[in-house]
Amino acid sequence: MPTEPNDTKFKPAVKSPAQDPDNYNVDALEKRLKLIQLQRLEREEALLAEADKALIQSRQAGIDSVKMKMANEAAKQRGCSHLKENGRTHLAGQKDHSGIINLICQGCQKHFKGDQIPAGLFPTGDGAVGGPH
Ligand SMILES: [Zn+2]
Repeated sequence: MPTEPNDTKFKPAVKSPAQDPDNYNVDALEKRLKLIQLQRLEREEALLAEADKALIQSRQAGIDSVKMKMANEAAKQRGCSHLKENGRTHLAGQKDHSGIINLICQGCQKHFKGDQIPAGLFPTGDGAVGGPH
């Protein structure tokens, strides 16, 4: 007995609503389509809102981190004597091209410029302050 090589030809082809609109409830399909579109838009809006919230939180975390770092640095500088353990100045630096001396404490990284350099903390000795002459 001969058999069919492929039984798919015996299955009825399912046509899409666009191919065969008479066999579908077009009003119901249009409602369904609008509902799907609306659900997609709502999901996109929710995702965008989440992304905005995450971005704001991330920026705020960055701001908070910088503020904390600055506060820690300021506290460290307030508590620093700018002296080494041997009692000598911990400031080092150089003169810039306009002749202004810039010193930085090697302990707390506080910057002292020109007449802001506290008396008694000025580095002494040959070559203590470099830069153009
Ligand atoms: Zn210091």
